[in-house]
Amino acid sequence: MSEFLRGESAGTAQRPGLRGKLPSRLKRNDAAPAGGGKTNFLHAHPAHLMSRKLTVVTSLRLKVKTEGYAWLAAAAAEVNQVWNWANTTCHKAAYPFVGSGKWLSAYDLDGLCVGASECFEHIGSDTIQRVNAEFATRRKQFKKSRLRWRVSRGAKRSLGWVPFKPAQLKRKGKSLRFSGKAFRVFEQDLLEEVTWKSGCFAQDAVGDWWLCLPVEKTREQTAAARESVGLDLGLQEAVATSDGDKLEAGHFYRHIEQTIALAQRRGHKHRAKRLRRTAARRRNDALHKYSRKIVDRYQTILIGDVTSLQLSKTRMTKFALNAGWGMLKTQLQYKGQQAGRSVRIVKESNTTRACSSCKALTGPTGLDMLAVRIWVCSECGDTHDPDINAARNILSAGRCPPSIRGNESSPRAVPPSQTSIDARLRVGALTVAA
Ligand SMILES: [Zn+2]
Repeated sequence: MSEFLRGESAGTAQRPGLRGKLPSRLKRNDAAPAGGGKTNFLHAHPAHLMSRKLTVVTSLRLKVKTEGYAWLAAAAAEVNQVWNWANTTCHKAAYPFVGSGKWLSAYDLDGLCVGASECFEHIGSDTIQRVNAEFATRRKQFKKSRLRWRVSRGAKRSLGWVPFKPAQLKRKGKSLRFSGKAFRVFEQDLLEEVTWKSGCFAQDAVGDWWLCLPVEKTREQTAAARESVGLDLGLQEAVATSDGDKLEAGHFYRHIEQTIALAQRRGHKHRAKRLRRTAARRRNDALHKYSRKIVDRYQTILIGDVTSLQLSKTRMTKFALNAGWGMLKTQLQYKGQQAGRSVRIVKESNTTRACSSCKALTGPTGLDMLAVRIWVCSECGDTHDPDINAARNILSAGRCPPSIRGNESSPRAVPPSQTSIDARLRVGALTVAA
């Protein structure tokens, strides 16, 4: 549980001297014999998992202060010129009037525009090379000789984008320096003592500019307190866990929809865009908090294999896409990977129909039955909440083969509450041992 994790981090923080002298692996080995008879609890959470450090790349997104907007807009117009030049050049090279065509690479494009930076006031050759590289990547990705034109002006203009190489962006006092221009960003202290990779300045639909920087960070992998959890991605509650925990992400932003509709009817385009951004941020925030909670709490995370694409073809589209399943899945996967968890996708057939207690297919079926909030199994008489029941089925479907401790060997599902009690006892023993 989270207390366990907090205790863990507090413990290491209180002993900086020890940490400084000994490598963390050694310290773990010293701690293990002290546990005495409790060593089998340590087997449950292998020591190598507890002390492993992992370098991960996360991206920072910092808002640029408004005084830089005009300069960035001008630079973005120049980037668009480079992009459009690359677009036409590549197309001409691929389909020439005579002879056979050539598929230009980013390297070829760089060679063709040597010295072009002299024609531009804002961007330099590094940015031009990054544009060429990005163009070549996207063209390969979409398998097209010509991509969409980037438009700098008018109602259909593209959102601004100015890429750069790591060396182009430098710290200078309280601001950042890029291509001869000083920028200030909000939350600049996040940039202290980090090394960044190639990033970009990007504009959002509202018109604000953001500095997007991939940075390397080291994360320590710790063991979670509880063992495993099944997650059912549903419509009514966005997610339900096999422990009976639910996330209703929708209510954080659904009421904004009416305000958006009103703003659109009145022709307040800018306000509508702003509201849409607010809604997206709230949903993101809720999903991030939820996925962090799950990853901190459980060691094995099992997710149903339902995709929002399947349901988006039905009349449930709006709810399916609103619930943000794709985002939650991605977040669980990368956060789980960084924390050393096992995140698995489990086949979801019959998980809504089967009773999680007796496995009889007595539950409600079909899309219309999604309205059912509670049902009673006709075989064993248990009362179920459909979402939690499905999550429990997913958990039992994804259970791994019997472990050393043997508490998972029964073919029937172990009731999740029992597992969590075990985990709590184990945590108690662990903290006593420590
Ligand atoms: Zn039953």
